[in-house]
Amino acid sequence: MVRVRYAPSPTGMQHIGGVRTALFNYLFARSKGGKFILRLEDTDRTRYGEEYVQNLYDTLDWLGIDWDEGGTKGGEFGPYVQSERFELYKEYAQKLVDDDKAYYCFCDEERLERIRLLQTKNKMPPGYDRNCRHLTKEEIAEKLAAGEPYVIRLKIPLEGVTKFTDALLGDIEWKNEDVSPDPVLLKSDGFPTYHLANVVDDHFMKITHVMRAQEWIPSTPLHVLMYRAFGWEPPIFCHLPMVMGQDGQKLSKRHGATSVNEFRSKGYVPAALVNYVAMLGCSYEEGRDIFPLSDLEKKFDVAHLNKAPAVFDYKKLEWFNGQYIRAMSDDELLASILPFLEGCDYFDGSDGAKSVLKEIIPHIKERLHFLSDVAEMVKFLFCDVSPAVEDLIPKKQTAEGTKAVLQNAPLFVEKIRGGDDEAAEELARELAEKLGIKLGDFMMPIRIAVTGSRISPPLIGSIRVLGCDKALERLQAAEKLL
Ligand code: GLU
Repeated sequence: MVRVRYAPSPTGMQHIGGVRTALFNYLFARSKGGKFILRLEDTDRTRYGEEYVQNLYDTLDWLGIDWDEGGTKGGEFGPYVQSERFELYKEYAQKLVDDDKAYYCFCDEERLERIRLLQTKNKMPPGYDRNCRHLTKEEIAEKLAAGEPYVIRLKIPLEGVTKFTDALLGDIEWKNEDVSPDPVLLKSDGFPTYHLANVVDDHFMKITHVMRAQEWIPSTPLHVLMYRAFGWEPPIFCHLPMVMGQDGQKLSKRHGATSVNEFRSKGYVPAALVNYVAMLGCSYEEGRDIFPLSDLEKKFDVAHLNKAPAVFDYKKLEWFNGQYIRAMSDDELLASILPFLEGCDYFDGSDGAKSVLKEIIPHIKERLHFLSDVAEMVKFLFCDVSPAVEDLIPKKQTAEGTKAVLQNAPLFVEKIRGGDDEAAEELARELAEKLGIKLGDFMMPIRIAVTGSRISPPLIGSIRVLGCDKALERLQAAEKLL
């Protein structure tokens, strides 16, 4: 039975890297009929934030990534929270000391700082000098009796190599002398370090596969050594390819949005983000990109993963977003855009306002790149417009010429009222010809007069949804400006 986990530390908002790890673990569990576990690794209390925990739940909920163990959205049973399990970690750190696999270290901050300075000065690799590894039983007993504070450190073998086979990258081998010298497992306040809590939990939660970002590879030999020290079988490790920006550097804020909140408020459809992230470092079928979550849940396989780093392409993600927006039914799209109108003072959310929106949806669906584009696009339907004179007059056109357009425009509007869009278009072409101007120069002043903007949904549809009488009023008002 496959059991995998997403084990974020609530020390920041969820970002693309985390979503990728969560999603791949989720998909792996689903594709194998296994369990997906959520675990909060909140051992670092200085960087902990309640808002980050909430953001984790909101994000997974928004993306539709459900977990089987460790918590429910309704909070029926709590998530696996490391800060609630400190006694367990303490017990197992102590067990390693009793088995001579770990030791008490009484070095204080001052001494450690002195070592650090000396190492920097002599250009030596950083790390603990293993001073307390050699204390005698009597010395230890004496210090404990005197109540000296201590940490517990793992005894890293001084020689040899540690090997593990990564499911994606193959055999990985580290010289033990390159593993951090005797890392702390339990801090002096009794709190575990990431390494201890992570390994103890993966063991007791019966995690079969650890799928995480490649930046954790340097910690893995240490984890393998801990499993050995405990006498436990390590899980299978699978380190996922790095996610890079277009410039080959690790994806970061410099490249654009990375936090899920940013993508959300920009108006990405969650399913589009999920689909795009699922393709990061993964290919399923030649020539096919669009895979709904339900498909991915069946198709995911470690064999589809690439070893090479994945490049995060914002343009491609935008394309996915457009595809998902266009695939929505009008009702789905209406529900998805409503949150983006909530803060707009012109939109009161009444049934009347919603039915106007519903009417315009078929006209805007093709044009939306982001759900948030809607706010500007539909504004003219809900509030008066006040076009500027200089915007009304197209380049290479005069005020008189523009006035003539606006005077002829009511004929066009009446044709729209007649219900035949093709006839209305044909008439627009005829009128432009009569005035000796291009069709675009005929349409633009009308568009600006009616919608107040150069960019609007298609003009005929806009006029129809706004109402022909209102359109005529706006044309008249614009004409007066000239
Ligand atoms: N808490 C670690 C993180 O924040 C988990 C790493 C792991 O998956 O082992 O990424």
